[in-house]
This record gives sequence, C-alpha cells and structure tokens, in this order.
Amino acid sequence: MAKVTVRSGNVSVEAESQKELFETLASYQEVFAVAECGGCKKTNLRFTVRRQADTKGKEHTYFELRCQDCYAKLPYGQHDNGQTLFPKKWTRWDKANNQEVEL
Ligand SMILES: [Zn+2]
Repeated sequence: MAKVTVRSGNVSVEAESQKELFETLASYQEVFAVAECGGCKKTNLRFTVRRQADTKGKEHTYFELRCQDCYAKLPYGQHDNGQTLFPKKWTRWDKANNQEVEL
C-alpha cells in the first residue's frame, strides 16, 4: 500500500493505512497541536526537556510545554510503552503560596 501524508494544523504524519494515519495523527495532535497557553491564552510556547536526578540518583526526564509570557507550563505524562506522551493539566508556580497550582 502507498504511503500517504496527512496534514492537520501544525501536524503532518505519514502512514500506510487510514487507521494508522488516524491513530498516528491523533497521538501527535494530542501532544503537538497545543496552540495557546492554558493561562494567558498567548501563543509564545516552547517545548522543553529537563533531566533531573531524584534523591536516589536515578535520572528522570520531564517533557513540558512552557509559556514564555506568563511562565505557565503544560507537563506531559509518559505512557508505559516508553515511547509516547500525553498532556496533563496546565499549571503555574504560585509564588505567594510557594506551590504549583492548576490553571
Ligand atoms: Zn501564558
């Protein structure tokens, strides 16, 4: 079967069957088609990856979308397959109360 490319918004995927295209597009859109900040609604967003060791020295990798205007962030969870991500909820650091709050 021929490879087909489908583009939707800022996401473009290639696959060989309609179901594979659909699933791939859905998966990528969930992660990459976030167009505006969950806080200020602006579009000045940046993907960031942080590596940080826990108290036992094990390194963890954190995937986040960060707003460059209001510093809100959208953390991504990682599926058990170790390959794919899913968005969690927008949060922002609340300086006054020294804690992270959901937006
Ligand atoms: Zn923002």
